[in-house]
Amino acid sequence: MNLLLAEDDAILADALCEQMRACGFSVEHAPNGAVAQYLLAKQTFDVVVLDIGLPMVDGLEVLRQLRQTDASLPVLILTALDSLEDRVAGLNAGADDYLTKPFDFPELEARLRALLRRSRALKASTELGQLSMQRETRSAQVRGDMLELSPREFDLLDLLLTHQGRVITKEQINQAWSGGASAAGDGAGANNAVEVYIHRLRRKLEGAQVAIRTVRGLGYLLELERA
Ligand code: CA
Repeated sequence: MNLLLAEDDAILADALCEQMRACGFSVEHAPNGAVAQYLLAKQTFDVVVLDIGLPMVDGLEVLRQLRQTDASLPVLILTALDSLEDRVAGLNAGADDYLTKPFDFPELEARLRALLRRSRALKASTELGQLSMQRETRSAQVRGDMLELSPREFDLLDLLLTHQGRVITKEQINQAWSGGASAAGDGAGANNAVEVYIHRLRRKLEGAQVAIRTVRGLGYLLELERA
């Protein structure tokens, strides 16, 4: 399990690194937000422990930017005891869980293991309504019938399911298609392509009891069909 710890308090960071390694995590430490962003861009992590109060780039900004390219990487934020605002802002920015300082290490370990379990289950299979999807085989079914999906259609469906109930933008879709890199090519053309693929996917999802809703000016979201 690869873990990124972004924490500027050197004593706390050293202690956490040591304890996490003893628990079997492979740990990278970032002493500020800029290093955290660099490591996130360069390496693959399974989970992130992110202090909110970080020098250079604060933890919330690191999280916001991470969520533009990676919606599913589990992030646990560390906040000061008295800062309810940080907690709310952190959850709004896409944190999966939070812990207030000071905390006991076993508590952190238990939270991390719960996040990892959840993320593994989500990666293996995802379901909504009568729609199910398996990432390992890149396949999806409606009422048990296999869907015929092109690679782009599958990536689009994967993104929508990962974010179910949340809006995804055309930019995020283009990034998913280009393998996480910033979308290349002309913006209008790329956006038209998104609309074409959304249209096709909607037809293929008929009978799945799910709806791809257009959120004007923002993007799309996948949700259970309203009766
Ligand atoms: Ca701090």
